[in-house]
Amino acid sequence: MSDSEEPQQKTVIGIAFGNSNSSIAFTSLDGKAEVIANEEGDRQIPSVLSYVGDEEYHGAQAKSQLIRNPKNTIAYFRDFLGKSFADIDPTNAHSSAHPIQHETGVAFSVEEKTDAEPSTLTVSEVTTRHIKRLQESAADFLGKPIDGCVITVPTDFSEAQRKLLSEASKASGLEVLQIIHEPVASLLAYTAREETSHPVDKTVLVLDIGGTRTDAAVIASRGGMFTLLATQHDYELGGRQFDDALVDHFSKEFIKKHKTDPRENERSLAKLKLECEATKKTLSLSTSAQISIESLAGGFDFHSTVNRLRFDLLSKKLVDQIVGLVESVVNKAGMDLTDINEVILAGGTSHTPKIASRIQQLFPSNTAVQAPATNPNALNPSELSARGAAIQASLIAEFEAEDIEQSTHPAVTVTPHLPKPIGVAIHSPEGDEGKAEDKVYVFLDAETAVPARRTATFVGTQVGGDVLIRIVEAKRESVDVTPPKEVKEKTNGTDEDDDDDEEEEEERVIKRVTEVEKVIAEALLKDVKKGQKVEVMLNVAGDLTLTITARVIGGKGGIRGTVPG
Ligand code: ATP
Repeated sequence: MSDSEEPQQKTVIGIAFGNSNSSIAFTSLDGKAEVIANEEGDRQIPSVLSYVGDEEYHGAQAKSQLIRNPKNTIAYFRDFLGKSFADIDPTNAHSSAHPIQHETGVAFSVEEKTDAEPSTLTVSEVTTRHIKRLQESAADFLGKPIDGCVITVPTDFSEAQRKLLSEASKASGLEVLQIIHEPVASLLAYTAREETSHPVDKTVLVLDIGGTRTDAAVIASRGGMFTLLATQHDYELGGRQFDDALVDHFSKEFIKKHKTDPRENERSLAKLKLECEATKKTLSLSTSAQISIESLAGGFDFHSTVNRLRFDLLSKKLVDQIVGLVESVVNKAGMDLTDINEVILAGGTSHTPKIASRIQQLFPSNTAVQAPATNPNALNPSELSARGAAIQASLIAEFEAEDIEQSTHPAVTVTPHLPKPIGVAIHSPEGDEGKAEDKVYVFLDAETAVPARRTATFVGTQVGGDVLIRIVEAKRESVDVTPPKEVKEKTNGTDEDDDDDEEEEEERVIKRVTEVEKVIAEALLKDVKKGQKVEVMLNVAGDLTLTITARVIGGKGGIRGTVPG
């Protein structure tokens, strides 16, 4: 095919814009999302800009300037966008350029040029420059200009913040096609991997543990549509707190040896922080890590090692806090832990093995926890947002602007939802094997967006006769079937040298049972033959009116009824 015959396709990318890092991704022709490395080979590009002489440094190069040139290095600025100075928490910017008050909200004052007055850069301007650099990296990699992007933001980003982000991107020359929620992007990254054309209905918890904050969201995925059921945030919990746990640990060791505290000198502290972050990352892969810093403080070098067990103990409180956040978001969604079918761990800190294993212990063992430590096939948690954004970008690339606005996939919908699960209970005649019990099958889970329709087939009866089909409001309950202590002690024997894991990690076995809460409608199918299949179709209208159709497959006629919502 000659060039002129090729369809004019837009080149679009996904951008994950975090306080700590950003990443860019594109979707290849075979539909796979891939994260792009910048010129320095980084896929996690620190959201940092630094001004040195007449140069602007970006990403990892800028981050390393936090040691030598902190006051001209702008970091952790994303959450300041669209906020007034009084509303921001400047703690994270303590060791970099300090935010200042500005008529538009927040700004930074940096020496951008040698021998010139410092310039005042608003957060919007910094965002524009940052996105421009990301866009250049993507264009460089793909070898063509970028026409548009989808950017991810946390679920608590306000309308005003989204608008400013769009404008800041536009000012950099990059059109924003859509801004989507980070947890929705993470879920999209996983669902795009599933090879079925009928997405499975499930309730997913996305736990995003980044550098400066932790965000949790419960999302209902029904018929390919995503609905945010609850969100919870902790702005003082993230990878930086894990770094600080190591900073304090090594500082104590340094004080013991050299009688000087490296945390008291800004430059020493900055060095120690960067090295502790690297050590922490090593501990996600190996069971021990070394740290080596030349001239850390008072002219003394520092060399030490730490093992994963020690790190797990140092960070235990932080992991407890993460577990607490998970419990609270599930509670906020009006659910039980057993209602969650899958947990997706996103954000760089989700590489930490202990976090993944604690989350796995919290949920029943059949709940999939998608993290590198609990599932070898899990996607890289640092890449989920960018991948999801790239997938969404390729889906909507050719849409008109107003269609994107209305695009419900995967935008969060505001359609009505089923408050309770609806099930089918089948009662068939008693057979030789004893009393036939009502079996309840959940048809439509709670939180399914309506209108919805489902069809299912069942074996009507094993013995032949009349089959009673009940459409019911179902109740899901969790039953604790953990074996009693004595039984466990017997099976555990006297194995006491379990020092790999100091705390007692008891495995609870929770079973989920479905029961009838209320019968909504009944249908009697007469003279069903042994083993014959019965088809039940349920249609729930937007006003929750139910239409039920039941028939014997291969038989004549059927029953149809309507129940108002
Ligand atoms: P935020 O907006 O909360 O600051 P972000 O989305 O910008 O976060 P992420 O890249 O998701 O940032 O997370 C960055 C954090 O993840 C850093 O604290 C980093 O040290 C940590 N991190 C990255 N890789 C690993 C790893 N392999 N093991 C442990 N922590 C890691």
